[in-house]
Amino acid sequence: MVTPIQPRLTHRRDLMARLAEPCHYDVIVVGGGATGLGVALDAAVRGLRVVLVESHDFAKGTSSRSTKLVHGGVRYLAQGNIGLVREALHERTLLLKNAPHLAQPLPFVMPTYQWWEAPFYGIGLKMYDALAGSAGLGRTEFLSRSETLAQLPMVQPASLKGGVKYWDGQFNDARLALALARTAAAHGALLVNYCRVTALSHDVGRIAGVVCEDQFSGQVFQLKGGCVINATGVWVDELRRQDGVAAGGAASSETQPMVAPSQGVHVVVDRSFLGGEAALMVPKTADGRVLFAVPWLGKLILGTTDTPRHDLAREPEAFEEEIEFILSESARYLQRAPTRKDVRSIWVGLRPLVKPPDDEGGSTKGLSREHTILVSRTGLVTVTGGKWTTYRAMAEDVLSQCTQHQLIRPTSGGQTKNLGLVGADADSFEFKALCEPEGLHSYGSEQAWVRALPGAENWLCEGLSEAMVRFAARHEYALTVEDMLARRSRLLFLDAGLACQMAPTVAEILTEETGQDPAQSEFVHLCQHYLIRDQENP
Ligand SMILES: Cc1cc2nc3c(=O)[nH]c(=O)nc-3n(C[C@H](O)[C@H](O)[C@H](O)COP(=O)(O)OP(=O)(O)OC[C@H]3O[C@@H](n4cnc5c(N)ncnc54)[C@H](O)[C@@H]3O)c2cc1C
Repeated sequence: MVTPIQPRLTHRRDLMARLAEPCHYDVIVVGGGATGLGVALDAAVRGLRVVLVESHDFAKGTSSRSTKLVHGGVRYLAQGNIGLVREALHERTLLLKNAPHLAQPLPFVMPTYQWWEAPFYGIGLKMYDALAGSAGLGRTEFLSRSETLAQLPMVQPASLKGGVKYWDGQFNDARLALALARTAAAHGALLVNYCRVTALSHDVGRIAGVVCEDQFSGQVFQLKGGCVINATGVWVDELRRQDGVAAGGAASSETQPMVAPSQGVHVVVDRSFLGGEAALMVPKTADGRVLFAVPWLGKLILGTTDTPRHDLAREPEAFEEEIEFILSESARYLQRAPTRKDVRSIWVGLRPLVKPPDDEGGSTKGLSREHTILVSRTGLVTVTGGKWTTYRAMAEDVLSQCTQHQLIRPTSGGQTKNLGLVGADADSFEFKALCEPEGLHSYGSEQAWVRALPGAENWLCEGLSEAMVRFAARHEYALTVEDMLARRSRLLFLDAGLACQMAPTVAEILTEETGQDPAQSEFVHLCQHYLIRDQENP
């Protein structure tokens, strides 16, 4: 058995001291979501000197608010985007292999109520299998009515004809982001959360670094380096605008906004609303969208929506009609209709969809889910779009563009293909399916390190121990109650009411560990965004 590597410490004062050291970085990454973290890891593994700064916490943006699917994208197949599907299927296999504790195969069942649905959708899914080839996770199967009910015990039985079962994957998005950050750090990268880039610096018309500010102390740092990657998700246009002004082209097409944000809402209810271990997939809802009911960490995620949204709120609110849409469409396919009272948490994510230059911001359903890389006249590299599943391929693409534009020295790519992420480095560890409630299984091969900390047997609630909070503070960059309960543990996304109750105890442990104010009252306030509003008393 391979001995798991000792987890590195992530004490803030040490990180800030390193940030203050004079250094010329090969790569400066702005933004600690899937995209930026993927780039930082790929660059670090190539032996480049890397720094990544994130204005809030890692994955605080879109990357903790996905539907949690590692997928080729069945619906992109319907749009005829074969290349995107093939690449995503390939990346799906790599991710399941490199982070088995955080990403796993999941069966999906599409129940059929009309005679034509099974052959119609079944053929598409057989094509999905064919595209996956040896990367397939299991064969698409046609199910009888009783087999469908065995897979989805609580699916609406009236008029049920049968079903089609296919395979994709699911993952723990925020913990995968942390695993990327920690793996990059293990390869020498410096990653700092709560450090916002406030300005870009230029030298004779070329990008030459960034200015960033510690969001706690206000201390300002000048980071130097000629390769700056703008991986700020839906917020990329802010830095692009600044860069455009520096290049002397305030009104040029280069600085026209490239992102058309689209909001996606998820509603979480108890897993008993679906039962079983498979996910439910509805290929076409009343208004032509795809709806998923996905068992995840002991609960059931229902979603999502696709609504254009022009403000770039950090905590976007669900529109009432989006909640109603998810609940009413779910009710059509479930024996027991979920009501507002059953909702444990609601979360909203903004998709960074890339719009064509003449787009005026109408519907976003048809916009490309592929990533876009732009290199500006000053050399600022902006990358956005794409999806979590393909973060690794995106990162390779970014670095090869940087090489082509001579922003970095030539290095060999492809090194992350077989790179196990932190937590995947032992032959065996207690393994549980991601549809089971949270617990030590999320730590993979690091479980023993968590168990060795004080409070390992002190369970604050199901799946959350005192030792996990200590581990998060010592090794996972956690500083606030929100960091702990939203992204190290996923309690806020699973049960916002319970997360709110846990706040004082978690705050106490964090304060003991970090000596810093863990922002407990801010978290309690935040929980209100994740709880459904009472319609009579909004
Ligand atoms: C509703 C929804 C469901 C989805 N479901 C799936 C799915 O099931 N599977 C899948 O593969 N993909 C899915 N996606 C897509 C996927 O989540 C995104 O493509 C991905 O998370 C985008 O990551 P990112 O790093 O580009 O953006 P983000 O995660 O938003 O990261 C950008 C980061 O930049 C930081 N930042 C901004 N400005 C600054 C600054 N000035 N200085 C420093 N940092 C800054 C932000 O704080 C943020 O953390 C979904 C997306 C949505 C919205």
